[in-house]
Amino acid sequence: MAYQITALSGDGIGPELMASGLQVLNQIGERFEHRFTIQEKPFGGIAIEEQGNPLPAETVTACQQADAILLGAIGGEQWQNSENTPEMGLLRLRKELRLFANLRPITVPNSVAHLSPLKAEIVTGSDFVVVRELTGGLYFGEPKELREFDAVDTLHYTKKEIDRIVRYAFELAMTRRKKITSVDKANVLATSKLWRQTVEEIRTDFPEVTVEHLYVDAASMLLIQRPTEFDVLVTENLFGDILSDEASVLTGSLGMLPSASHSVSGPSLYEPIHGSAPDIAGKNCANPMSMILSVALMLRQSFGLHEEANAIELAADQIMRNGYLTADLGGSTTTTDFTKQLCKKIREGG
Ligand code: ATP
Ligand code: MG
Repeated sequence: MAYQITALSGDGIGPELMASGLQVLNQIGERFEHRFTIQEKPFGGIAIEEQGNPLPAETVTACQQADAILLGAIGGEQWQNSENTPEMGLLRLRKELRLFANLRPITVPNSVAHLSPLKAEIVTGSDFVVVRELTGGLYFGEPKELREFDAVDTLHYTKKEIDRIVRYAFELAMTRRKKITSVDKANVLATSKLWRQTVEEIRTDFPEVTVEHLYVDAASMLLIQRPTEFDVLVTENLFGDILSDEASVLTGSLGMLPSASHSVSGPSLYEPIHGSAPDIAGKNCANPMSMILSVALMLRQSFGLHEEANAIELAADQIMRNGYLTADLGGSTTTTDFTKQLCKKIREGG
C-alpha cells in the first residue's frame, strides 16, 4: 500500500528526531513492502524565520491533503516575543485540522522499568492512555485578557464538545481493558458538573465499561500511587495537559513518549509529548523514542498496520534491553546510533 505523510520537523531537536523517525519508517516500508511518501513542510520557529509566519498556508494545505501528519517539535526562546509565536501556530493547526482528541499512551517497557523515578514494582505493567480534550476549555475560551492589574481567562465547554471526547474515550476503552477514569473538579466547577453528568449519560450506551470518577487532585495522587490500575483516563484540556506530563514521569524520561491527535474525519497528527528541548538541540544526544513511537502509533491508528507497529516496539524494547540507551536514561548512545541499531533490528526481523 502507499501512504502520503506530511512531515513537520520544526525547531530544536525536532529535525533530529524527525530524521530518526523517518529512517525507521523507511525500514518498515522495506521490510513489509509499503510505500511511504513524505512531504516536508516548514512549521514553527523555522517557518517564522523563512516566511514570517509559524503556520504558512502551504503547510496547512499539505497537512489537510495527507493521510497522516508527523510533527517533531516547535518553539524556542528567540520567538517568544514575536507577535505570532510557534505555539500559536500549533494551536491554529489543531483548530484548522479540528484535532479535538489528544491521546497519550503511557506504557512502561520492562527494559526501562528500573529507570523510573518510582519503584519498579509500582510502575511495571503500567499501560494506560490519557485522552485529553484539545480544542475547548480554558485555552480557547473568550474573553481572555491581560491587563495591568488584573487578567481573565474563560473556562467554557458545550455539552457537544464533552460528548464527543467522552464517547471517543469509551470507544477506545472498548478496544482495551474496558475501564474509564473520568477526571474533573465537579465539586467546584460548573463545566465539570456538566462533564460528569454527560459521562453518566453516555455510560448507559457502554454497559460493559467500568466507570470511575475522580477529582483532578485525587487523580494526580493516584497516577503515582497505583498507575497500573488505569486503562483509559479522559479529561478536559487543562487537566489533561498537566496530568499527561505527570504521567510521563512513570517511564523515566519525557523522551520516551509519543502522542496522537485525532479529528472526526481527516488526518491525525502524531508527535512526541515533549517540546523542542533547545538545551540539547544539535548535540545528537536526544532520545528519539518519542518520535519513533509516534511513528508506530501512526502505523497502528491511521493505517491499521498493527504488525508493523508491533515490530517497531518489540525491536526498541530489545535494543534497550541490550543497553542501547540515550543520555536521558543514563546511557551514552547517540540519537543516530540508536536509530541505526533499531533499523538493524527491524531489518533482521528481531
Ligand atoms: P514546552 O514548553 O515546549 O513543553 P518544555 O519547557 O516543557 O517545552 P521540553 O522541550 O519538553 O521543555 O524539554 C524539557 C527537558 O526535557 C529538556 O530540557 C530536555 O533536556 C529534556 N528532553 C525533552 N525531550 C527529550 C528527548 N527526546 N531526549 C532527551 N531529553 C529530552
Ligand atoms: Mg512542557
